[in-house]
Amino acid sequence: MEPAIYPVWQRVFHRFYRGLTLPKRSHSSCADPATPSPSRRSQPTLLVSRLYQPANLRDVGQDSRLSVEMTCKSQRLMQQAGLIHPSNPGCYYYLPATVRSMEKLVRVIDQEMQAIGGQKIDMPSLCSADLWKTSERWDLMGKELFRLKDRHDADYCLGPTHEEVVTTLIAHQANLSYKQLPLLLYQITRKFRDEPKPKFGLLRGREFYMKDMYSFDVSEEAAYQTYESVCQAYTQLFARLGLRCVQVQADTGNIGGKLSHEFQLPADIGEDRLLVCGSCSFSANVETMSSDSSACPQCKTGTLVESKGIEVGHTFYLGKKYSHIFKASFSNAQNKPSIAEMGCFGLGVTRILAAAIEVMSTEEGIRWPGLIAPYQVCVLPPKKGSKADEAGVVAEELVHSLGNTLPHLRGEVVFDDRTQMTIGKRLKDASRLGYPYVIVVGQGALEDPPTFEVMCQQTGETMFLSKDGLLDLLGRVETV
Ligand code: ATP
Ligand code: MG
Repeated sequence: MEPAIYPVWQRVFHRFYRGLTLPKRSHSSCADPATPSPSRRSQPTLLVSRLYQPANLRDVGQDSRLSVEMTCKSQRLMQQAGLIHPSNPGCYYYLPATVRSMEKLVRVIDQEMQAIGGQKIDMPSLCSADLWKTSERWDLMGKELFRLKDRHDADYCLGPTHEEVVTTLIAHQANLSYKQLPLLLYQITRKFRDEPKPKFGLLRGREFYMKDMYSFDVSEEAAYQTYESVCQAYTQLFARLGLRCVQVQADTGNIGGKLSHEFQLPADIGEDRLLVCGSCSFSANVETMSSDSSACPQCKTGTLVESKGIEVGHTFYLGKKYSHIFKASFSNAQNKPSIAEMGCFGLGVTRILAAAIEVMSTEEGIRWPGLIAPYQVCVLPPKKGSKADEAGVVAEELVHSLGNTLPHLRGEVVFDDRTQMTIGKRLKDASRLGYPYVIVVGQGALEDPPTFEVMCQQTGETMFLSKDGLLDLLGRVETV
């Protein structure tokens, strides 16, 4: 522990400059590190040698200390790249790169939920059994519910979903007016489920992040409109991530209600079986289909084709199921209490992250939806002692000028300072981690005018660009 003499920012600052980052170049236009000032500080350069990625690119398949069974590609790639580390069954350490990616995903989700009027809240994970007994789900949930007792012997559970908790909140707002509806409350928190078979890494955990939104409306009609707008927001979210997602009719399970859809990413390891019509928009989870016929029940002419899918989202129209039990009401236009119509809408946040890696990656390397890649750019200076050694200075300058001229890439550029390694070895590592852009600073950087080799992971293209060309390309990278 450090003595608390300096203000926090100063301690953080000194820690950065004790070797985590590149020393700032004397001719740079940035603030002098010797006289730090919070407002004048520039972004430090992130050095690959100092990034905390414990499994740092080792072949996990050969590491006996990680004796967790590899059940799918995303789990293997994420463990190999030091993105996650297994803890106890169904629970993982999310390491820095994963947390960065998660934070970006959360920002995209926030944008989409707030665009349709969602307001973010945060509810307790430790939930009283009384609420669950009231809804009768205390027994219905069976072994999936993590149950515990407090020191007074009162029963609790760790929230697997929050219909009871949020409806109780609304029930306590005695003066909620129809003018405030629709009300859409959501949270992004850890959920706990004692899954019988946690597997596939982050795809099926026992502790995972979910975005759960709950809607309250004045009428059935209004609730259907809200339901529709959330489904559209989900479609928009997956489009922004560049993920192909199908919306299928689904079973309402023990959440209950009248109408339900799942959002599925088609993938071989998916645990859900889907039927998708080749001619119209019809698609459904096999569980919901009563007939074995392969003819489409909607257009009658198309044939249903089966595929497997990973469920990344689930929407339910609940009606008055919970609002009736907990008396969640609002005062209507006649100033009379009226029971609200509800919907609930889940997105598996950690599951989306792993599912995206599952469907986009090759066997050798991770490919991210560009928007949520942990870092956008990796700069590779030449090997120490190689012919192009002097280009190392150009590489350092490049990193500083990227940070200075492209504000949206602040904190997004890493510098692979492991110059004892060949470019080839470091390129292989970069390819496994899937930085959207890898810049090799070699012999070309010493020529006049200097050129840089740029690899775009998403398209597999390699380009030789001038510095201006490079700034132009990276200036167009979308970040969140
Ligand atoms: P599944 O059928 O896969 O068990 P579910 O239908 O029980 O999921 P919901 O209650 O609909 O899940 O939860 C909302 C979302 O949370 C799901 O669509 C999924 O993306 C995510 N999710 C559910 N269970 C898990 C889990 N064990 N690990 C990671 N994400 C999960
Ligand atoms: Mg579901």
